[in-house]
Amino acid sequence: MKVLIVEDEAKTGDYLRKGLTENGFVVDLVRNGADGLHLAMTGDYAVIVLDVMLPGMDGWSMLRELRKAKDTPVIFLTARDEVEDRVKGLELGADDYLVKPFAFSELLARLRTLLRRGRNVQAEVLAIADLELDPVRRRVARGTARIDLTAKEFALLHLMMRHQSEVLSRTFIAEQVWDMNFDSNTNVVEVAIRRLRAKMDDPFDRKLLHTVRGMGYVLEERE
Ligand code: CA
Repeated sequence: MKVLIVEDEAKTGDYLRKGLTENGFVVDLVRNGADGLHLAMTGDYAVIVLDVMLPGMDGWSMLRELRKAKDTPVIFLTARDEVEDRVKGLELGADDYLVKPFAFSELLARLRTLLRRGRNVQAEVLAIADLELDPVRRRVARGTARIDLTAKEFALLHLMMRHQSEVLSRTFIAEQVWDMNFDSNTNVVEVAIRRLRAKMDDPFDRKLLHTVRGMGYVLEERE
């Protein structure tokens, strides 16, 4: 799941990026509203964390522009706990807000609530054959068997379940799950696929994750 953070304070931005990455999100971090708006308009984010006070275009203006085109959930960060600020943000189309300073656990809880509320389809439980993935509760199961995955394995499976029956290249997977551009080092993807498969396919009769030689991987039901 991709999160966009728009925050000009280096310390806060880096702290949020680290925390969200550790919790299995893929994070893009920008330091001003213009870059934030550009990424928000062109990217595919599950949620945007938006600071209000930004150099150049502020958070309010960015949100106003974004809402003309997209309804990506937005949680805004404000330095002052004033009713006016909250009302303004919500009127402009923000979904939630946090007053600085806040605990990271609080932000994480709010993000999960936002995703669960269902405005975003990425929060829905995904299924293929007897395999189920719940992105909000971060649970994976095959039938009644619970499958424990690492954060990266979970992100990888989540990506593949969102693109069922599509062949995904190693490069695409690397970009989406690791947020990196791999030129030749797609070995990371192969290793992760092998580990994922060992947990969600190998112990079961019906195989779902298939290698397409020279192209990549596909998650689908085959006879
Ligand atoms: Ca700021």
